[in-house]
Amino acid sequence: MIKLIRGFKDILPAETPRWQRVEAVVREVFDSFGFREIRTPILEQTELFARSIGTNTDIVEKEMYTFCDCKGDSLTLRPEATASVVRAYIQHRLYAKDPVWKLYSIGPMFRRERPQKGRYRQFYQINAEVFGVNDPRADSELILLLMTLFRRLEVSEITLHINSLGCPACRPHFTKALGSFLADHTSRLCSDCLRRRGKNPLRVFDCKVPTCKEVMADAPSILDYLCTACRTHFDAVLAALDRFHIPYERDHRLMRGLDYYTRTTFEVLTSALGAQDAIAGGGRYDRLVKELGGPDQPGLGFAIGVDRLMEVLAGNAEPLEKGPRLFIAALGRRAQMAGFEWMQDFRTKGICTEMDFSDRSLKSQMRRADKLGASYVLIVGDRELDTGAGVLRNMDTKEQQSVALEDIVRKVTKIVGSKERAKVRGQKSEVSD
Ligand code: AMP
Repeated sequence: MIKLIRGFKDILPAETPRWQRVEAVVREVFDSFGFREIRTPILEQTELFARSIGTNTDIVEKEMYTFCDCKGDSLTLRPEATASVVRAYIQHRLYAKDPVWKLYSIGPMFRRERPQKGRYRQFYQINAEVFGVNDPRADSELILLLMTLFRRLEVSEITLHINSLGCPACRPHFTKALGSFLADHTSRLCSDCLRRRGKNPLRVFDCKVPTCKEVMADAPSILDYLCTACRTHFDAVLAALDRFHIPYERDHRLMRGLDYYTRTTFEVLTSALGAQDAIAGGGRYDRLVKELGGPDQPGLGFAIGVDRLMEVLAGNAEPLEKGPRLFIAALGRRAQMAGFEWMQDFRTKGICTEMDFSDRSLKSQMRRADKLGASYVLIVGDRELDTGAGVLRNMDTKEQQSVALEDIVRKVTKIVGSKERAKVRGQKSEVSD
């Protein structure tokens, strides 16, 4: 048997109602914050990611699915969304119409990481990107949006970690101080960090090796090196979070694993999962649009890990899985044909309708209707076709009524189309016939 690729997974019908509910809430919240959806391809030129994420990052160094297509172009399955959205903003000159855009997208990302619980090689993200706004209120608004989403989805047990990575004016001072600190601790750093130390010392903060973590506990804090402009920006973001009563932890070790960030960075951690405890992360990337060949417009965004979000939500009540509104139990060849036609008419009227094609006994058809969780069953046999009246059974109340077959679709739609709560799929009700 051919099986799934390691690190990939199927999302089965039992789980999709929860995914759909989350996506519906996400779209609603994004709408209310004035965001518009963008969909970019999952395949891009490798250079886009190498240039934006940074060649000395874990993602670009070892986690990308990269291959040459038959013409020899190097292509990569997107490991994150920001680079693609920035590319689209530049390529389609969205900025020329208005520099300010608030965009969101939902879709799969690919990273060849070591699979474990909460870490997959194909995983889904909900992404938000904002272009053209320098004001620190944009940072706090984005975090507010993220927290509104989590509140709406009833995700608790989360903490917001926040930091500022400064800008090209102040970060080099910090990098220099960090460099001297690391030089004094080389004997305790892992081989990866010794390599990172020269090329990209900030990445040493991301290392999970215990001795490196111990060393970094005493590392200098970037917050002590911020220039006045970055300090004022950061203070304004925090003040806005205070005003909206959003709790946060200032975390000077939070560097995020990508190179493009400037100023505000943040991550949302949950205590409901194991080692893979980050469910969202983001920040400002004020230089990225220009670095990728666009105008000098600032940007900021976040990504929520949907798979991890679903694992957190798995403890909550199952969302309602609706059964069909109507099941047509047809007995005999002529009734089966008539039922088949009516079924399409009901569906065009928006009534979810099912029937059984195997022409089984009424008892087994009723059992099937019950198993599917149908709210009503329309019972028609060849004999009823001749007498001109069928039977409509309410599966909740067990009440039955006779309905004339003339103009039946309109009549039954009127009865079953009322806004009564749909039955939960699989819920048992007694079947008697
Ligand atoms: P990042 O920008 O790498 O911090 O990713 C943002 C979010 O995506 C993380 O906080 C995770 O929730 C999620 N994520 C990242 N990598 C994976 C992965 N390999 N499997 C599942 N979720 C992931």
